[in-house]
Amino acid sequence: MRYYGNVFRPPSEAKSLIIQATIGCSHNDCTFCYMYKDEPFIIRKMEDIIADLEEAREYFPYYERVFIADGDALVLKTEELVKLLDYINENMPNVNRIASYATAGDINRKSVEELQTLYDKGLKILYIGFESGDEEILRDIKKGLTKEDYINAMEKCKEVGFETSITIIAGLGGREKWKQNALGTADLISKTKPTYVSYLTMRIYKTAPIYKDYVEGKFEMPSAEEILYEMKVFLENVDSEGTIFRSNHASNYVLLGGVLNEDTPSLISAIDETLEKKNFRPGMLRGL
Ligand code: SF4
Repeated sequence: MRYYGNVFRPPSEAKSLIIQATIGCSHNDCTFCYMYKDEPFIIRKMEDIIADLEEAREYFPYYERVFIADGDALVLKTEELVKLLDYINENMPNVNRIASYATAGDINRKSVEELQTLYDKGLKILYIGFESGDEEILRDIKKGLTKEDYINAMEKCKEVGFETSITIIAGLGGREKWKQNALGTADLISKTKPTYVSYLTMRIYKTAPIYKDYVEGKFEMPSAEEILYEMKVFLENVDSEGTIFRSNHASNYVLLGGVLNEDTPSLISAIDETLEKKNFRPGMLRGL
């Protein structure tokens, strides 16, 4: 089995069989994103996807989890996804969880009935990049989605029963819009109450479109202190009882984990302590 282009998966899917249903991302326009910039978007033929699965299960028949890549596999027509899920259910008896990236646009284009069919056939968790909950920042980064799109998508996910794992990014508004990023994102998470929230820290890659703005001084990257202060303001304002919160991505200046809202005070204390001692994770440990 071979992979095409850059293959990305969430950290929690490290032990999953990664299967490419698409190559790249159908949107591929977000200014901060470097992931699939060199790749044309391709929806793979189902027979090729299933051939990959056949090869993978011959090699190792004990996979318990499958992650359907790339950037937004839910863009596939529902009947195609059903064929894929049916194949897994019929031929890979050890698999107990199937996951995928999804955009709010993909989710909103499908009916609740279609989403329910996918859930009933084993697709249990969707990884969705909110990035920010602030309308202006969503426009700045060319996300192509609004806050309302996210709210509608999350309502559908809840109705069906999907677990949702959301990424948000501290620093995405730069120095100028840090507060609206913190407050808008806290508001969106409070309104959507996902199962998991993963809080990443903005990083600027040379291949991402925002790099040009950064070089020209139009986008100012916040310092470690400013990033942590933004995260603190987010935590002070978010109300999402039971959401599992993590900031354990390679990009983060401090590693945090807990359950909102019960652990929110201790998460804030950990940020305060890091700010006071200035013991930010060094760039080397942050994958820089
Ligand atoms: S952030 Fe997600 S939706 Fe945006 S271009 Fe990258 S992969 Fe595509």
